[in-house]
Amino acid sequence: MSFTHVVDKIPAAGLEFTEVLSTEWLGRALGDAFRPVGVPGEAKLEVAREGTSVVVDGELTFTAEFTCSRCAEDVQVTHLLPVRLSFVVGEEPEESEEEADDLDTFGMAADREVIFYQGPEVDLEAPLVEVIIFALPAYPLCAEDCRGVCVDCGQNRNALPGGDCRCAEKRVDPRFAKLASISLPTKPN
Ligand SMILES: [Zn+2]
Ligand SMILES: [Zn+2]
Repeated sequence: MSFTHVVDKIPAAGLEFTEVLSTEWLGRALGDAFRPVGVPGEAKLEVAREGTSVVVDGELTFTAEFTCSRCAEDVQVTHLLPVRLSFVVGEEPEESEEEADDLDTFGMAADREVIFYQGPEVDLEAPLVEVIIFALPAYPLCAEDCRGVCVDCGQNRNALPGGDCRCAEKRVDPRFAKLASISLPTKPN
């Protein structure tokens, strides 16, 4: 895998290529919550030059596994992440966020991630890792409405017929357990 490109050698018309994302590489890029599944991913990219700036468009595809933060089920998801980067000659500005945003445009689409570079090459690796890190949640769920694991019986509530084990209904707060044994007088008519 090579993520570096000599800027002078990038044709103005652009250069299309596909990089294999090895499982080792994915293992490092995916962070703590996700892991590769033994199948390499792919970066389909087009790199083009605009003067000394380099624009990168394309997408990353890879399959990753995670353990649901609520129900602890292992889930595999194939991700397709868009890549839109601009490499601009210069140093990372130390201005406030607002000024940096103004700088970012440089006449280019504002929705591009701007990376400042110096020297003859651009290195796509760190920005691509960032695309992955920003796209993947820190606490992934198998489904937005995952019902999680019952704290009483330990069953995965998603898998239960009728969607519940009914433990919550049976559960009585120990502070009120005594009350439950007291028979209250019925309301006089
Ligand atoms: Zn879940
Ligand atoms: Zn239960």
